[in-house]
Amino acid sequence: MNKDLIENIGDNHISSNVNTPLLPTAFDKNDDEKIKTIQHHFSKIMETLGLDLTDDSLSGTPYRFAKMYVKELFYGLNPENKPKLSVFENKYSYNKMLVEQNITIDSSCEHHFLPITGHAHIAYIPKDKVIGLSKINRLVDYYAHRPQVQERLSLQILKDLQTILNTEDVIVMIAAKHLCVSSRGIKDKDSFTTTIEYGGCFEKKAYRNEFLNIVNNTTK
Ligand SMILES: [Zn+2]
Repeated sequence: MNKDLIENIGDNHISSNVNTPLLPTAFDKNDDEKIKTIQHHFSKIMETLGLDLTDDSLSGTPYRFAKMYVKELFYGLNPENKPKLSVFENKYSYNKMLVEQNITIDSSCEHHFLPITGHAHIAYIPKDKVIGLSKINRLVDYYAHRPQVQERLSLQILKDLQTILNTEDVIVMIAAKHLCVSSRGIKDKDSFTTTIEYGGCFEKKAYRNEFLNIVNNTTK
């Protein structure tokens, strides 16, 4: 790929697939082996930048960086880390909108590996299944902890919830700031990005409006 095209894809945040592009060999190495490999390569990056890794303050950075990538920021790449999403019978037959708001988004942009931070607001209308509220937060956390594009993050959460809850009636809205927009490139400190994905009854404007009213009136 030529350098202009590389910059263009990054600046326009173009994503090519709903699924995170993973190699077939993605999990051949275990976490410890990955940390070791990344530690080695990151020390080379630091040295290339001219940093002295014999300095006490810097010597542990490649290890800290590698461990943070594998165990924290990108733990959601590994399907083994996916939260168990137990659902329950909808015994009380609640069949109106349930809205879970202000779910923290801590993610990273896959084009620049810089933070994406903000909130997700999610609603569904139960059919025969309901889900524990904190499970929605855990699912969001899991998909956020991968190199991401905001549109794909919204879709991955939506599709999973639709499958687990056995209904199309789900809506996912994410409003987030991208450090790659605020700290580099255009350096806009105030703009943020909103994405909204939905299916089923949320295709109807009245349902979307009810959702948006709840979010707007109760979210600080
Ligand atoms: Zn970016």
